[in-house]
Amino acid sequence: MYIMEKKVEQNGNHFLSIGNGSAKSKENEARASMTKSTSGLSNLKQKETIVTISGGDKGCYFSRVQVGVFVFALLLTLSAVIVLVVCFSDSNRHFHRLNPTVENVCKCADSQVSYVTHPENTVALHTALAVRSTSEPFTISDQPEIGIRLPGDVIPVHYDIDLDVSIDNENYTGSVKILTNCLKDTSLLILHVKPYILNVNEAEVYIYPLKKGDTNNTNNKSFIPVTRQFMDFDKEIHAIELKEPMMKGIQYIIYIKDFQGFLFADLKGMYMSSYKNKNGDTRNLIASQLQSTDARKVFPCFDEPDMKATFSVSITHSSEYTALCNMPVESEKCFDDCSRTRVQFQTTPLMSTYLLAFVVSDFDYSETILENNYTLRIWSQPDLINQTYYALDFATKTYAYFTDYFQMPDVVPKADHVAVPDFSGGAMENWGLVIYRETALLYDPEVSSSSNKYMVTLIIAHEIAHTWFGNMVTMKWWDDLWLNEGFASTLMYFAMDNAYPEWNVLDIVVAEDMFPVMVKDALETSHPVSPNINHPDEIAESFDQISYNKGMALLRMLETFLGKDGFRKGLQSYVMKYKFDNAEMSELWETFTEATNSSLKICEIMDTWTRQMGYPVINIKADGDYYILEQTRFLINAQKDKQDIEDSDYGYKWYVPFTYMMEDDVTLRLHWLKMGPGKIKKTSGGWILGNVNYGGFYRVNYELEMWQRLAKQLYKNHTVISPPNRAGLIGDAFNLARASMLDYGLALNLTTYLRNEENYVPWKAFLDCFEFIRGMLSKESAYVALEKYIGELVAPVFAKIGTDDHGTLPEMYLRRLLLKTGCDTGVKAAVQYAKDQFRAWMINGTRLPTDFSQVIYAVGVREGSVDEWDYVWIKSQETNSPSEREMLLEALAHTQKPWLLWRYANWIFDVNKIKMQDVRLVMSYFSNTPLGRMIALHFLMTRWDDLNEKFGDDTFIIREMIGEVTAYVNTEFVLNQLEHLFTEKPPKGAKKGADSAIALIRANIGWMDKNYASIASWLDQHVESSF
Ligand SMILES: [Zn+2]
Repeated sequence: MYIMEKKVEQNGNHFLSIGNGSAKSKENEARASMTKSTSGLSNLKQKETIVTISGGDKGCYFSRVQVGVFVFALLLTLSAVIVLVVCFSDSNRHFHRLNPTVENVCKCADSQVSYVTHPENTVALHTALAVRSTSEPFTISDQPEIGIRLPGDVIPVHYDIDLDVSIDNENYTGSVKILTNCLKDTSLLILHVKPYILNVNEAEVYIYPLKKGDTNNTNNKSFIPVTRQFMDFDKEIHAIELKEPMMKGIQYIIYIKDFQGFLFADLKGMYMSSYKNKNGDTRNLIASQLQSTDARKVFPCFDEPDMKATFSVSITHSSEYTALCNMPVESEKCFDDCSRTRVQFQTTPLMSTYLLAFVVSDFDYSETILENNYTLRIWSQPDLINQTYYALDFATKTYAYFTDYFQMPDVVPKADHVAVPDFSGGAMENWGLVIYRETALLYDPEVSSSSNKYMVTLIIAHEIAHTWFGNMVTMKWWDDLWLNEGFASTLMYFAMDNAYPEWNVLDIVVAEDMFPVMVKDALETSHPVSPNINHPDEIAESFDQISYNKGMALLRMLETFLGKDGFRKGLQSYVMKYKFDNAEMSELWETFTEATNSSLKICEIMDTWTRQMGYPVINIKADGDYYILEQTRFLINAQKDKQDIEDSDYGYKWYVPFTYMMEDDVTLRLHWLKMGPGKIKKTSGGWILGNVNYGGFYRVNYELEMWQRLAKQLYKNHTVISPPNRAGLIGDAFNLARASMLDYGLALNLTTYLRNEENYVPWKAFLDCFEFIRGMLSKESAYVALEKYIGELVAPVFAKIGTDDHGTLPEMYLRRLLLKTGCDTGVKAAVQYAKDQFRAWMINGTRLPTDFSQVIYAVGVREGSVDEWDYVWIKSQETNSPSEREMLLEALAHTQKPWLLWRYANWIFDVNKIKMQDVRLVMSYFSNTPLGRMIALHFLMTRWDDLNEKFGDDTFIIREMIGEVTAYVNTEFVLNQLEHLFTEKPPKGAKKGADSAIALIRANIGWMDKNYASIASWLDQHVESSF
């Protein structure tokens, strides 16, 4: 999956990631609306779920029928809708809030307790059931023996899935036959089902033992009788207790004949989406997103990545649509006067459940047939089909590239890539049916910018890379998610570099991907790339920058010391060895060790990077003919005097492949620091530069005199040092200064050379580092001088490179960046250009240069009033280009009229104005200007209850909003307010986010005390005052 890290330009040390938003609030709405749509209480009778009431002296168990009666009673006093929402939300399990009333109803509790005996050899759930014979209340979830993992007694081999979907009624029915192997005797079968969202009819659950040679035994009557069935809300399991145990060594078919699912616009599982065609008609469609744990929302299954199986899927649907699944169509027939069609798809290879996908739509496609009849199609709304050609061309090259890289073709014989109007992440690599949000796949050269092209290219490459790394070979469990994502994120750059060498993507990566995650990983609130996962919610939480970007950076570092060939050889043999299987991190390192002929113990080296958080700073000190290298953990918040080394098994020491070069000998040299210090011989009296090309995930700190030499080199002739290293010197200096390890004056001295810098990467690094200082100083008197200084650096380079609309991607990136910075800091030529362009666009409809349109819209809105704002809003609603729409929506947050910002922020509660999938984007746009941030912070605090209620269960929205609006808060007053807010009303799904925001604000306050005066004084000396 690609979480689509949209870098908010100049947003410095934190950036937005559009993740797999698990809209749980939607799910709760879904539960409520589902009960409404299925004639209220009759639905309750289908399940005999045990609901626990805790807090009473005695256990008090209700069947759902009783709960229904209870709800019915409440209906008399409360409005039906409110009650149902409450009852079918997650919090329903905690009935104690309603206890006083419930106690009265609970006359029958004891008679509900049945005593069940169990063979010893079944899973721990029996302990849970046995507990019922005592008076202690319980739920399955209360039993620590049962984690979120399935017991593994029974594992799937093959699924036959039949789904009959009705787009008009927004629901479907289905059946599934799962051929399984029993590995251990058990009379308790546990499957994944998302309760309430997926309704299993218990009367239609059959377990058939297979005799040798049988393939399909579901027609005979010899199924094992079921004693009872249970659901668990938290762990999302459906437990089937059998009268006779399933026996080790025997195969069984689990036949769940009748389940019903509902299709909501919740972006999870199989879900509804829609678009308006050019006639203005709304067209509906079905799309899917099963990663990480929503296959269980679509059909009962063993929903764990290492329970791989083959899948035969059929979809029955209205004939006006086309159905797509992972595999090509095997057969198709229509019935009911051909108004309905049943499509049977070919059987998939062995794969994980999270990679299944379904699309039912009226989309069109563009197509190319590659060698071996591999069919590649790019699908979109029919009106957008001409925006699919770029993707088709690049995807064709990318399949060829990876086929060659891995020396192995894709196993699935086709790849459909589909752009759907509503998608929560960036894209998802479902095998053979990759699904994207529209901006991640569609590219319109007429309106899309270079950065749109870059993102589309990157995401396509990322998803295709997963075919080999993720789909063929899969991690065993989600704690190794970073393996999938880190590798896809590394390999995507290889494919891009191959297709567009002139982009220098491997340089861009340093400033855009590595530096931001290095800031995040330098906080004590970071986590190892390989975290422990104990709850389904933590799986979604682990899809963050650390998994993706640090994972990528570590693998890039691995490549620096293995060499390109060694890296490729290791990867090839790994995929070959574990094809159709699952592997753990250690098994990967083993194949790399073999690739080096065991000259390096890769596991030993890499464990220090993946199993502990953070990274080191290497301090270089001259000592006679040598340089002494020392490593310490780098922490931005240096207030804490002593580091807590106890909480890491490795004591925050690393195996560092330290690379370096010297002034008169620029040969790249490598020296290993083995969890301790090192020593290298001086070859010259000039400068030494560590971490060549910024290939390693560590910072370098020099002695004062050495920093000055390096600054002098930059000023004299910066091209001697590579662009990633120029960026790295700036990045390291400012971060070391932020951590009080270096004087800010020295870091600032490094930036004066930028008047001559014409490469995007150092500029990007500089502006990102400066964004923090700008944010912190935005309410201080030195802010004027700061903006003036930046303007003075930008102006000469802007004058030189201009606003030409043609050039390579890095050239266009730099022009856009400097135009934007020039406009922000009042460089006259830049502001005038943008204003003129905006006027021409608004009045004459003149088309804007695609790369600059975002800046131009923003300046137009900023300099304009309500007319300009409304005009841009209307345009955002009219455009059929998703990327154009995002630019316009972003520009709207640049207004300097508070009332317009307030109106805009409030619109996130109005789905007719701002789509659910865009809420995160829109809120992130507010952090682009000091005023926007101020309003957004105020908005967060004043509408906290509503935000928490509506978006609290989403994995990302609140977490990111907190991070963005609090990034530059640096006063005790606001800190106290936020602490109070988070304590009184904790954010539902973003506790970690709130904690880290508070920690960051404390650090900000400390930073201001320590550094404000010296920065103000440096600016005073270097910027001419207007007065
Ligand atoms: Zn991915």
